[in-house]
Amino acid sequence: MTTLIVRAVILAAVAAAVAIPVGLFSRPWHGWAVFSLGLVLQMVFHFRNFTRLDRWSRNPLVDASLEGEGEWDNIFGRLYRHEKDLRQQIAQREHEIGMLIAAAQALTDGVVLLDLQNHIVFCNQTAEAQLGLKVATDRGQSVVNLVRQPEFVGYLEAEDFSRPLILRPERFRDRVYAIHVIPYAGNRRLMQIKDVTQADRLDQTRRDFVANVSHELRTPLTVLAGFLETLQEIELEPEERNRYLEMMADQSRRMQSIVQDLLTLSAIESAPPPENEVVDMANLIDKLRRDAEALSSGRHTIRVESEGQGDLLGSEPELISAFGNLVTNAVRYTPAGGTITLHWHVSPQGAEFAVQDTGPGIDAKHIPRLTERFYRVDRSRSRDSGGTGLGLAIVKHSLNRHQAQLHIKSEVGKGSRFTARFPASRVNQS
Ligand code: ADP
Repeated sequence: MTTLIVRAVILAAVAAAVAIPVGLFSRPWHGWAVFSLGLVLQMVFHFRNFTRLDRWSRNPLVDASLEGEGEWDNIFGRLYRHEKDLRQQIAQREHEIGMLIAAAQALTDGVVLLDLQNHIVFCNQTAEAQLGLKVATDRGQSVVNLVRQPEFVGYLEAEDFSRPLILRPERFRDRVYAIHVIPYAGNRRLMQIKDVTQADRLDQTRRDFVANVSHELRTPLTVLAGFLETLQEIELEPEERNRYLEMMADQSRRMQSIVQDLLTLSAIESAPPPENEVVDMANLIDKLRRDAEALSSGRHTIRVESEGQGDLLGSEPELISAFGNLVTNAVRYTPAGGTITLHWHVSPQGAEFAVQDTGPGIDAKHIPRLTERFYRVDRSRSRDSGGTGLGLAIVKHSLNRHQAQLHIKSEVGKGSRFTARFPASRVNQS
């Protein structure tokens, strides 16, 4: 700028130096006219550059279109570089903000940013899906107007965020969210929505399991305690006394079976993945047939059908336990005179072990729940035949560990077929 002023003064002095002799030797107004012309030319020069600057400032593109004359070119150059730096910085910030938003979008937890009045500033896709929000239209709206569930509204209004809110959203009743509100930047709030459905289910399963075990053990224990008391207090005939002792032994056997099955389940759960030892299926099926015959004591016809060559790869004790449970169930639930068939089928797609019976069958509504721990279709029939309600849970678990699946087909009055399907990777096709 200083240079610009110095130049203007010099040019004015030059105009004056030319104008003064002209004024002295010709007429004075001639001198003034020359001086004025000098000034006008300077003004035209500056005005042209001002016009360029004015035009460019209305649409300051970062290209080389901003060119000036003389000292103006330096000023334009500086402006141009400044504008370019600024644009680069803005692009860099935009890129960083874009990355932050992409990171927030990638989170598996829902994130909603709120101001002090609970207006939505930002929310990621997960939160949109969880709470049914649409950031494009809902930004700036109060979140309590959009999610009207009373517990949610009450939680935000109470402003006590020391504990998370456990919410079962109205739109997805089977899901459970833990909502944390974290204040930040003075008057802003970050709402984090964690889907804790799985953890909640596990917790519920654990609570049910403890309740079921206690219930299952309490019944025989109560019976045992009652008999003991009777034996202690009443003088009984030897025959009566023996009958009582037999019933007590029955109850303790029942408790033993439950504890044994629980231990088996827990051992399978905590065991490392099964080895790939070759399990000789011909041998195993022969053993299962003999066990079935022993348990049936001639009340059923036991058959074996085998197709294809191949053995399983896995843990022999676990497979014996799984298949043994299926065979034992078939014998226990099939009335005398029925037929039980053990099938073994190997194909390039994998292998199947199935136990088919001509027993009472199972109503379709029970089938999805049969592998739940302690689930029984007919409580007394299961108990009378020595069942614990854990057999199919053990089967399912052992099969899962071998990447196999249990399929149950059953028709009331006709019989059932329990099939364990193994993938080709679990078959040794020698
Ligand atoms: P349980 O010890 O009671 O037999 P399981 O887990 O082995 O427990 O089986 C669960 C329930 O499934 C049984 O109580 C019974 O009602 C039903 N069930 C299992 N196998 C058969 C079968 N072959 N025929 C009919 N019902 C069966």
